[in-house]
Amino acid sequence: MAGLDPEDWEELKAQGHQMLDEMLENIRHVSQGPVWQPMPASVRDAFKTAPLPDAGQELGDLYQQFTTMVQPYAVGNRHPRFMGWVHGGGTAQGMLADMLAAGLNANLGGRDHAPVEVERMVVRWAAEMFGFPPDATGVLVTGSSMANFIAILTATRNVVDGQDMRLHGIGGRRLVGYAGESAHGCVARAFDMAGLGEHALRRVPLNAACQMDTVALEQLIAQDRADGFEPFLVVGTAGTVDTGSIDPLNALADLAGREGLWFHVDGAFGALARLAPDLAPLLAGLERADSLAFDFHKWAQVPYDAGCVLVREPGRQAAAFAQSLAYLSREDRGLAAGAPWFCDLGPDLSRGFRALKVWFALAGFGTDRLGQVVTQSCALARGLAGQVQTSVHLQLLAPVTLNVVCFRVVTPEVEDLDWLNGELVKDLQVSGIVAPSTTRIGGVLAIRVALVNHRTTETDVTILLDTLHSFMEVRLAQVRMMKLVEEQMQA
Ligand SMILES: *Cc1c(COP(=O)(O)O)cnc(C)c1O
Repeated sequence: MAGLDPEDWEELKAQGHQMLDEMLENIRHVSQGPVWQPMPASVRDAFKTAPLPDAGQELGDLYQQFTTMVQPYAVGNRHPRFMGWVHGGGTAQGMLADMLAAGLNANLGGRDHAPVEVERMVVRWAAEMFGFPPDATGVLVTGSSMANFIAILTATRNVVDGQDMRLHGIGGRRLVGYAGESAHGCVARAFDMAGLGEHALRRVPLNAACQMDTVALEQLIAQDRADGFEPFLVVGTAGTVDTGSIDPLNALADLAGREGLWFHVDGAFGALARLAPDLAPLLAGLERADSLAFDFHKWAQVPYDAGCVLVREPGRQAAAFAQSLAYLSREDRGLAAGAPWFCDLGPDLSRGFRALKVWFALAGFGTDRLGQVVTQSCALARGLAGQVQTSVHLQLLAPVTLNVVCFRVVTPEVEDLDWLNGELVKDLQVSGIVAPSTTRIGGVLAIRVALVNHRTTETDVTILLDTLHSFMEVRLAQVRMMKLVEEQMQA
């Protein structure tokens, strides 16, 4: 027996149908289980000590291990009351698309086959979604971290000759770029990975609306030029990860034009708001960017992972990434036809068929319906912010632009409010009822609620506030009890 195909296909099919049915049921009823539960030490230890298997196991046994050891202890982002960080909820339809893609086992680095045309189609659709020209180039990647990195490397080629940079790096050039103080950490990391160094990313102060302050930006650019640096890039964020704020994109596009800088937008989740007619005006100027990074796996609910980078001007991306190696040479016909290939537009050569699940999401739901999900998330966020503002126990810590609400519990009974709010978030997460996360706003710890999941409803927001209130009462009862004990000990 040489190959790895099953001996008994009928048995495998039965097994597969069972897995499929059970996982679909699991998704269907996801809201009835806990959002998250800690993994028992025994489960963790089983993974930590499992030896490399030399002999094979039955698929049924492996599936059994999956359902008992993995499935119950996932992060919980499918659940409507997962409100931490920025995670998409995924869809059953997306799961099926991913299954088909795995069945085909296509490699989308290049060559002439239909999966590549599917990716070209979804990249063209993405360009249209964001107001980019139809001949804009782009590629699907793991996520916005990689998309931002590709865009930033492409931007360096705006000032350093592509071939020169490929052979000699940036040499002695003192390139600097700019992003708001609340830009995602992956932007600084992209500077690091590009060999520019994180210090070459200047962090621009924010205004009262948590947006990049364009006056401060101009001053920084002038200062850098005076000091002999070479400004090459400004990164605007459409939907910052801490508050959901949107940098003044039109002003940034104007400024980048005046200063001769590449204008990149990190729109990881926020860019999708362009599909929502009520919110699209907030993103005015996005369509003027030289490049855009965004995720399909966040607000567009495509299963992980699916990010995308778009570059306005054809040829720019390939100038940064295409290598002409003889063994990968393109032909006019046959399997090696159809340049440029996706491997010419980013660092990956072998690449999976992410495009299929993106196609199924865009075509299966339509951009109208995806826009409605965005509208709904933002309406829920505004509703939550309204309730926070009318509660005496709660304080809103940042304006709500999109779907992120930052607030905290305030009480005169506790001195260290950072401690209280931090503990409350942990209480909520461990309860399995609802899972927000934290951030820091203006130096204080905030409870951060990001509404991204298409399954989240008003009831879930009510449950969040009710549960938070209950845990606050428990914490305050503990604080009062401790004070009583202390008073008695002193008496
Ligand atoms: C999520 C996010 C990123 C990183 O995207 P990944 O898909 O996790 O790599 C970058 N920027 C912003 C604003 C984000 O919200």
